[in-house]
Amino acid sequence: MATNGPLLDTLRAIVGEHGILSSAHDLEGFVEDWRGRYRGDALCVVLPRNTGEVSAVVRAAVAAGVPVLPQGGNTSLSGGSVPFEGEGAVILNLSRMRRIRHVDAANHSMEVEAGCVLADIQAAAVAAHRFFPISLGAEGSCQIGGNIATNAGGTGVLRYGNTRENVLGLEVVLPDGTVWNGLRTLRKDNTGLDLKHLFIGAEGTLGIITAATLKLSPLPTAHAVSWLAPASVEAALELLGLFQERCGAQLSAFELMNRKQLDIVLAHVPGQHSPLAEPHAWHLLVELSDSDDEARLGEALENTLAVAFDRGLVTDAVLASSSAQREALWKIRHSVSEGNKKAGVGLTLDTAVPVSQVPEFIARATAAIKAAFPADVVIVGHMGDGNIHFIPFFDFATWEAQTNRDALTMRVKRVGHDIAASLGGTFSAEHGVGRTLLGEMQHYKSDVEIAMLRAVKRAFDPQGLFNPGKLIP
Ligand SMILES: Cc1cc2nc3c(=O)[nH]c(=O)nc-3n(C[C@H](O)[C@H](O)[C@H](O)COP(=O)(O)OP(=O)(O)OC[C@H]3O[C@@H](n4cnc5c(N)ncnc54)[C@H](O)[C@@H]3O)c2cc1C
Repeated sequence: MATNGPLLDTLRAIVGEHGILSSAHDLEGFVEDWRGRYRGDALCVVLPRNTGEVSAVVRAAVAAGVPVLPQGGNTSLSGGSVPFEGEGAVILNLSRMRRIRHVDAANHSMEVEAGCVLADIQAAAVAAHRFFPISLGAEGSCQIGGNIATNAGGTGVLRYGNTRENVLGLEVVLPDGTVWNGLRTLRKDNTGLDLKHLFIGAEGTLGIITAATLKLSPLPTAHAVSWLAPASVEAALELLGLFQERCGAQLSAFELMNRKQLDIVLAHVPGQHSPLAEPHAWHLLVELSDSDDEARLGEALENTLAVAFDRGLVTDAVLASSSAQREALWKIRHSVSEGNKKAGVGLTLDTAVPVSQVPEFIARATAAIKAAFPADVVIVGHMGDGNIHFIPFFDFATWEAQTNRDALTMRVKRVGHDIAASLGGTFSAEHGVGRTLLGEMQHYKSDVEIAMLRAVKRAFDPQGLFNPGKLIP
């Protein structure tokens, strides 16, 4: 383990005895990622209580030439939130900065510290009869700072956009320790470059987000949810168009999974039941929401489904008739990562293609993977926004039998990434680039784009100490 006594003493003086962890035992849980695929080591974890302490920690670490790794809930799926082996970084974890500072209901905005857990923010918005629409499987443990740093997506993007679209302002500690207070709450502000966007999606490479002002939406009070079996992926695409045409902005989620994905959840996550009696190749979770009357919304869903059955787009469907049933359907969707982790080794692609290209992407990628590798294919995705998690899936025994698994992983992923790229898509839609996809940045980004990224990085972090080896090729 790395040692640096004088720096540890300085950091201890800044954050207090309880704000620093440095024994190997205490560092467990901070130096390994959620899926247990990456493990590194750190000098220490510091847990500052306020922005002033973050700034002082940054100044001390940078003066000592020690890398700084901002960390939130450590739920990253791209290895972005844990250090490399031998790196000896200072992990700056925001968990103790979890105050909701202010809710301005009339302005539909909220000011929060970066360590607030996403689910707590959602609950605080509801308490003010407002809605914060970012929602994802890790919402009980990921933090808003991490959501902003990765520009997280999730299930609400179709209607409300990514995290970027739901942030009004930021407070950031820059790599020289300076604090930028950009906590604006405006919908319109054309005073030059909108600097907050540089930090949204920067994965901790340009500074540490310490607080944010968030955009809230009206609270939907009525929901109608259906689990249905589309006749094919092409039919699912047509059905998406039908819902958009008939229900407009009420359509708030349109999530796709294949049979293999549902089977994994049913087999590996306790308490889950198949929503439909018969097995089907494809499944959709569709939600309408509004401040309308719930019965009227249910009617809109039923009428649209009736048209879909008439046109042969859907072969089976159930409608949730209570909030408990609705939650049970969503629980299946939110359990996919847990199920996949238990069932085998999934090499999750975070691809997005134009929505119109989803069927072709799935067909081509499935054929290519099955022809070249001893893998099954699990598919789960936010079909409404084109973000398909295409997952070549190995059972544990097959995976263990493979030699050079890192190289195999990249070969498998490249097949899917190439197909996405050929359809105008991307290899990284919402999970971040982290360390997993750094090579893909080099491969798919143009020289001009890489040069611009490096120039921005140099301007903010000339010593290259902020989350080194992640995101920026
Ligand atoms: C079960 C499960 C389901 C998931 N589903 C989704 C999904 O649907 N959509 C989606 O987008 N993601 C999803 N994720 C991935 C992950 O939850 C998100 O990327 C999340 O936004 C990360 O938040 P975090 O607080 O855990 O950040 P961490 O994992 O701690 O960090 C992620 C990155 O952000 C940086 N960072 C963290 N905090 C700060 C800060 N305050 N300032 C600057 N940089 C910071 C870190 O350095 C790192 O690069 C899922 C993960 C799990 C485990």
